[in-house]
Amino acid sequence: MAKTLGLICRECGREYPLEPMHVCEFCFGPLEVKYDYDEIKRRISREKIESGPKSLWRYLELLPVEEPKVGLNAGFTPLKKADNLGRVLGLDQLYIKDDSVNHPTLSFKDRVVSVAISKAIEFGFDTVACASTGNLANSVASHAAQAGLDCFVFIPANLESQKIYGSLVFAPTVVAVDGTYDDVNRLCSEIGSELQWAFVNINIRPFYAEGSKTLAFEVVEQLGWKAPDAVVAPAASGSLVTKIWKGLKEMVTVGLIEGMKTRVYGAQAEGCSPIAQAWKEGRDFIKPIRPNTIAKSIAIGNPADGIYALQVTKESNGDWETATDEEIIESIKLLAETEGIFTETAGGTTVAVLKKLAQRGVFKRDEVVVVYVTGNGYKTMEVLDNHLRETLHIKPSLADFKEKILTRV
Ligand SMILES: *Cc1c(COP(=O)(O)O)cnc(C)c1O
Ligand SMILES: [Zn+2]
Repeated sequence: MAKTLGLICRECGREYPLEPMHVCEFCFGPLEVKYDYDEIKRRISREKIESGPKSLWRYLELLPVEEPKVGLNAGFTPLKKADNLGRVLGLDQLYIKDDSVNHPTLSFKDRVVSVAISKAIEFGFDTVACASTGNLANSVASHAAQAGLDCFVFIPANLESQKIYGSLVFAPTVVAVDGTYDDVNRLCSEIGSELQWAFVNINIRPFYAEGSKTLAFEVVEQLGWKAPDAVVAPAASGSLVTKIWKGLKEMVTVGLIEGMKTRVYGAQAEGCSPIAQAWKEGRDFIKPIRPNTIAKSIAIGNPADGIYALQVTKESNGDWETATDEEIIESIKLLAETEGIFTETAGGTTVAVLKKLAQRGVFKRDEVVVVYVTGNGYKTMEVLDNHLRETLHIKPSLADFKEKILTRV
């Protein structure tokens, strides 16, 4: 018996074979992987998972891949009890799921890409590609290098230089497009319809997106097989938020936990918050916007899974909040100074939103709250220009040290 049954349209329920495709030919709805949960329930157990690899592949039974081919060390990142930050926010059981140290490219994208490229290899593709806000390009380029595949990554031309180097070092073809991410994505859809390439977040998106579920699986396991009371996660396309919820529900379905009442909270940068805006205005559709924020990794103005992310917050009794660029920088510093974790702008956004939600009183003091830190601060250092303490310069002399340093502290 197979664990996967095929692809299914989220809108009309039409079914398709497991192939590299992502939209329903009938209604243009997005396709999702359909599993045989009875079969998975028979195969899976806490003990088997616990004795599995120390990577996201310990959850292979709930992923649409037969055998991992690349990214063998992705996932299973630390869940850190955040006592210092918790004290500041009045939360006794705050945890950070720290994907800023994910392997190999220091963001949550290593999860989705290790799954997508393993699947692309199973499908027999020899070229992989993506439309990216930065982290995805880094991860696709790295995994393509591991697998010896040809690689093309498409990015908006105004990305942080650290993110561009973080792709170039793996020697893919980096194509910088004059336009926003949404322009890049539209272009890639056109290219993808003419070429036989695996665009990880376009034609093989149903497989790619499943990788995000492991952020739910791991947190539950790391909490001792208990679902948290609340999670706070960033949203760009809205896929991550949607899949965290799907992952939590699947754990109940296959009997790994008895139940869960987790509330899912979404975080967006104020300068690119089409999902949060729809939520605040009570709409169930997204009005695309033109992004204007330092949080480039989550700057998607026309989010493909936005409406499903809205449904998640509704179904789970969650909420949405936004953070200004100034609040994002403050929160990058707050997280660093309290927990010793250096995150990028997306993590700054999420921590800023966590802080706002805590100040609004949406969490009880003793609730288990998990905040997802999805990217690494070494990739967006330029946003901190003029926001940090100065380096103090001295000559290599004790007298100079005493005069210039000790007199100041
Ligand atoms: C891509 C990305 C996200 C969000 O991804 P979606 O699934 O598109 O919502 C969050 N954080 C970081 C750092 C990212 O690179
Ligand atoms: Zn359909």
